[in-house]
Amino acid sequence: MPSLTIEQILLRAYQRIDKIDAHLLLQHILAVNHAFLLTHSDQMLTLEQTNHFLHWVLQRSEGVPIAYLTGQREFYDSVFKVSNAVLIPRPETELLVDLALNLTSTDRACRILDLGTGSGAIAITIAKHRTLSQVTAVDISVDAISIADWNAKNLCVSNVRFVIGNWFAELSDEKFDLIITNPPYVAENDPHLQQGDLRFEPKLALSADHSGMNCISHIIQTAPQYLEKDGWLLLEHGYDQADECKQLFKRVNFTNICSYPDLAGIMRVSGGQFSASS
Ligand code: GLN
Repeated sequence: MPSLTIEQILLRAYQRIDKIDAHLLLQHILAVNHAFLLTHSDQMLTLEQTNHFLHWVLQRSEGVPIAYLTGQREFYDSVFKVSNAVLIPRPETELLVDLALNLTSTDRACRILDLGTGSGAIAITIAKHRTLSQVTAVDISVDAISIADWNAKNLCVSNVRFVIGNWFAELSDEKFDLIITNPPYVAENDPHLQQGDLRFEPKLALSADHSGMNCISHIIQTAPQYLEKDGWLLLEHGYDQADECKQLFKRVNFTNICSYPDLAGIMRVSGGQFSASS
């Protein structure tokens, strides 16, 4: 393959993949911004850059998510390393971070637990903004924990510790002021699992039995044992799961139960406070 200019290689890419995707991938390989691509269209690529880009174009044309090709995704105010061992952080999950930050403050030390941390995006972002607090981040996947640990070190966030475990199983008799989680909640027969990026993401992180409610209901039922009095549990859920979540919260005596909409107006996070000592 002879070397090509930026313009020539982009024209080839447009035949196979979305224009915006082509720009993002080439920007990443050349370590330049979008304006550079537009203003340096006659710059030659090295043979290595050409081959790298064409390989990515092929993979992208087969559906591989952009974030798994570039190995990173922005979330909140940081860039996180990702691989196909972890869910790609979603913009709607920033709601969970905002709500968690509203329940905590910069001048108070809280103990915070993130269940199913994946890339660590939620736990690390909260820890970064709440430096007096201690965040514990749990995931059952060793590969996920090693990515999350890398992200924390890369972002110089030291008030987060990582635990390999199945939800609460590896936590002894610790209590937390706030538990947050973005668990798997997509129903196993949901056609979305067969579409777009979801086809390439770990099933373990995406879908759950009982119409997607299995992990959510385990977490709501078990959380009271691990919450301080008046501690909060906040969880992300599917577009149609808010009412069921609120029922589960009620059943284990949570108060101030509420659901919160994401930017698309979909009830995306539900939560409550554990004030009862039943
Ligand atoms: N919100 C994601 C989706 O439907 C799923 C994330 C999850 O299961 N926690 O694409």
